[in-house]
Amino acid sequence: MDARFFTAWVEETARAVAAGRDRLTRLDAAIGDADHGTNLDRGFTAVREALSAAFPGTPGAVLTLTGTTLIRKVGGASGPLYGTVFRRMGAVLTAARREGPGEPAGHGPAGWSSPPGAGYRPEAPEDPEEEVTVTLADLAAAFEAGLAGVRKLGGAQEGDKTMVDALAPATRALSGAVRAGRGAREVFDAALAAAREGAVATVPLMARKGRASYLGERSIGHEDPGAASTVLLFAALRAAAGG
Ligand code: ADP
Ligand code: MG
Ligand code: MG
Repeated sequence: MDARFFTAWVEETARAVAAGRDRLTRLDAAIGDADHGTNLDRGFTAVREALSAAFPGTPGAVLTLTGTTLIRKVGGASGPLYGTVFRRMGAVLTAARREGPGEPAGHGPAGWSSPPGAGYRPEAPEDPEEEVTVTLADLAAAFEAGLAGVRKLGGAQEGDKTMVDALAPATRALSGAVRAGRGAREVFDAALAAAREGAVATVPLMARKGRASYLGERSIGHEDPGAASTVLLFAALRAAAGG
């Protein structure tokens, strides 16, 4: 998967968010402040503009720019949370690219830099002829890091009725399918199915994080808007892969 694939994923997400904007806002009207659709649509519209202005040439750069733009443009809780997902993913894919396939994406504590090893290219070449690609295993590692970032930033566990309830099972399904040696199509199908299931499963839950938690038991009986928008990310991933 190259920069073009990741750009297509993000653009597909932007289209899905625009198409789903009113539904996401209605879900947020029931248990929040009725702005989730407009928040994300504003953010992803800015992301599309940023991508077409900068034309980032690597998978990592595409996702990092996406995350930074979401953090800058989305005022609500979802901006920093989704921004963190994309920025963490971008960091993992940038490292994967430098170290080559099969190498772990991190070396020890932050700030500690490893000596050059096999496949390590300290001067990441900016040769436009060179196509930088990442593997499904890199993508799984990137989602794991994105999920960890959201959990750390927002403090939500699964079952708290947030985007984590869709992102965590989808990431698990994606990683599991990659480890089982499945192809891209099956990997993305599995992730999407798990995200959908996770989002639907938020309906009977009581919110413990975010604005919806102010409602206590009155948050029961509604799908979490952030879990619903996370489903769009995975639907877009499948669409970008031609599904
Ligand atoms: P706001 O609540 O600031 O208006 P949005 O409406 O854009 O922001 O986003 C709300 C969504 O953000 C929720 O539906 C939930 O999925 C997610 N969210 C809120 N707080 C957290 C948190 N602490 N951890 C994970 N996700 C959260
Ligand atoms: Mg809101
Ligand atoms: Mg708000």
